[in-house]
Amino acid sequence: MGAQRRIYTLNGLPPEVIAVAFAKTSRCPDPFDKIAAELNEDKSRQFHEKWVIGYGHGSIMEHAVLSIALENVSVLLTKFLEDNRLASYTEKSTRYQVFDKEHYYKPENLMSSDLREIYEETCDFLIDKYTGLVQKMTAFMQNKYPKTADETEGVYNTKIKNKVLDNLRYLLPVSILTNLGMTINARNLRWAIVKLVSSDLKEFNEIGAELKQCADKITPTLLKHTERNEFIEKNSALLKESSNKLITGTKQPKENTVDLVEYDKNGEDKVICSILYKNTGLPYLEIKQKVINMSKEEKEDVIKKAFEGLGKFDIPIRETEMPEYVFDILMDYGAFRDVQRHRICTQINPNLDVDYGYSIPDEVIEAGMEADYKSCMEKAKETFTKIKENFPKEAQYVVPLAYRKRVLIKMNFREAFHFIRLRSGKQGHASYRKIAQNMYNLINDIHPMLGKQLVVDKT
Ligand SMILES: Cc1cc2nc3c(=O)[nH]c(=O)nc-3n(C[C@H](O)[C@H](O)[C@H](O)COP(=O)(O)OP(=O)(O)OC[C@H]3O[C@@H](n4cnc5c(N)ncnc54)[C@H](O)[C@@H]3O)c2cc1C
Repeated sequence: MGAQRRIYTLNGLPPEVIAVAFAKTSRCPDPFDKIAAELNEDKSRQFHEKWVIGYGHGSIMEHAVLSIALENVSVLLTKFLEDNRLASYTEKSTRYQVFDKEHYYKPENLMSSDLREIYEETCDFLIDKYTGLVQKMTAFMQNKYPKTADETEGVYNTKIKNKVLDNLRYLLPVSILTNLGMTINARNLRWAIVKLVSSDLKEFNEIGAELKQCADKITPTLLKHTERNEFIEKNSALLKESSNKLITGTKQPKENTVDLVEYDKNGEDKVICSILYKNTGLPYLEIKQKVINMSKEEKEDVIKKAFEGLGKFDIPIRETEMPEYVFDILMDYGAFRDVQRHRICTQINPNLDVDYGYSIPDEVIEAGMEADYKSCMEKAKETFTKIKENFPKEAQYVVPLAYRKRVLIKMNFREAFHFIRLRSGKQGHASYRKIAQNMYNLINDIHPMLGKQLVVDKT
């Protein structure tokens, strides 16, 4: 009789033991559970110290996975942490939960300066307005969207609450505290901690140190070399200085925009070539020559077949990753919070400021709250400008989610397909729905054969 197939989990064992059990299979013929049974935490530690730390076999660290709960951390911090793409996150929603004045971050250096008063006064003002407008906005929404016969009281109230908070969330400053669940492996956690402790912001440094302390209880050996990193520190200062010498310009208030700034002109051909490559095994350049000479109909047929039968929750084939698009997106921070969560892309994020102005949701104007809303934005801008003089990084904390920022995003067609299908949907927030719809238009204009396959909700 042949060897018995066995499939089982090692969950329940300490993450460092799991990492060694998997690592040892490389040289040891024993079953995983037998290897694991012979290990204790001391033996695992010795193994990691020799192989992972000593010889730098970092991929073993990926088998040690941690699920870490972060509570009462600023929204600004969550975005920095979630920038680590090889991990999974879920955070408190600004649509389903009401935030309050008791929970916002107060940077220590501002608190011990004469800017304390205006910082606190501004954050309090913004959050008071947010809370104070809930009732008025609820009345407006109930009037605009009366309950229908087929809606239960509960469903209707939730719908109204979501609409209210979707509009008012723009008033919240990014200092507001939130909760974040993160599942991450030790290799990526190490680097996330290094980036946090190398940052200029005290909150980030402290949370980096606390993450290390917390993770050390579970993975005491693996998280070595988490100290402040000189390269990150010096390099970012160097690039800032030289960038500012090379180019100067003025940032003006401007509407939200999505610009396609780079793309593969022959992106559709690339998809076709890679499909033929996979299915024939012929050399790429030979295929490319053939594809260049194919008729439009022949090309269209290959692309159409690549999407034939694709269901609502199916993922397009890998060959659709070949074309890449770079979008320069100007959006409010509220939309950015959602867009940034997409991990299969490269995002370049400048710091948050107030130079590009802010978004005002149509329903805030319709509800007669424009003056209140604008007073919040003006106050936040004034305070930001004052704080920025001495504390340019800390000044970000006072900026409300309504203010715009730029993000450069490079994604392949497969990810764009996912983004547009998910983010143009009616269940989403209006701000990112528009971004997804614009991305659809831009791709469709340059790559109509691929564009035809995109699933978009244009309503
Ligand atoms: C209506 C709506 C409400 C939402 N509400 C909340 C909320 O309350 N709180 C919150 O935190 N987030 C919320 N989100 C964000 C959501 O949870 C995702 O983080 C975000 O949409 C990114 O999508 P994604 O993970 O599918 O895609 P991407 O990160 O763009 O990845 C693309 C695809 O790659 C695969 N993939 C990428 N990384 C991994 C991985 N590590 N493991 C397995 N597969 C992976 C998946 O198939 C994924 O769909 C909401 C999103 C929507 C649309």
